[in-house]
Amino acid sequence: MLNQFSKAYNSYNPQNRSALQLIAIPAFNDNYIWMVCKHDKAMVVDPGQADPVFEILKRYELDLCSILLTHHHHDHVGGVVELKQQTQAIVYGPAKENLPACDQALTEADSIYINDLELSFDILDVPGHTIGHIAYHGNINKTPVLFCGDTLFAAGCGRIFEGTPTQMFNSLQKIASLDKNTLVCCAHEYTLSNLEWAVTVEPNNETLQRRLFETKRLRSEGFTTLPSTIADELLTNPFLRSNQSDVIQSVNKYANTNLTDQVDVFAHLREWKNNA
Ligand code: ZN
Ligand code: FE
Repeated sequence: MLNQFSKAYNSYNPQNRSALQLIAIPAFNDNYIWMVCKHDKAMVVDPGQADPVFEILKRYELDLCSILLTHHHHDHVGGVVELKQQTQAIVYGPAKENLPACDQALTEADSIYINDLELSFDILDVPGHTIGHIAYHGNINKTPVLFCGDTLFAAGCGRIFEGTPTQMFNSLQKIASLDKNTLVCCAHEYTLSNLEWAVTVEPNNETLQRRLFETKRLRSEGFTTLPSTIADELLTNPFLRSNQSDVIQSVNKYANTNLTDQVDVFAHLREWKNNA
């Protein structure tokens, strides 16, 4: 079941213009700019660069109608001003952060409706990586989808730059409680290196071993490993597993501690990963 969605969602199918399509557009070294499109309309999430988006819009004759931002980091907002100027797209973003452009400032419990795509998203506050970080939760072709920026990664999580470990822990728990089939559309292709570290935390987790094997194969064939699913993350992401005895034992061994509290275990896991 692992990575069951990856290939299907990776590339645009011109035969399928009347259906909603989800595409990962590569940017920089390892970013993805997620695009959702239908007919001749498109929205993007976290366009750190404008050019890769312009290229896709041109190639598939799409008009950009909306830009969704999760947080203020340059690799997520760097292309916003240029895209907005040339397309008049509406920019949505977190209310608590300074953004280069934002037409609608959002916070938890807000929801937005993208008219041109007939798509709605609920907003979740997920502070930790940055203090105002938000995520967008909706349905595409009846499949739940989450655009979560740099909060949850496949087999990893974002660094805690502005928030506290407790905030990040709570944000990840909020995400983990979503429907298991939810497609996790995170903003970086970090899956392989995350998994290589995760197997050192949980060497006896067979699902994790299989995921690592499958991910190596996907990467060697040039495929994207995303989106992930909440189900896969619950089984293999150490940052969602700080209540598991194997993870707790591993952390205590690494840090030479005797922690039992889940948030403490999580905080030490994050430190461990920072130093890995
Ligand atoms: Zn970031
Ligand atoms: Fe980032």
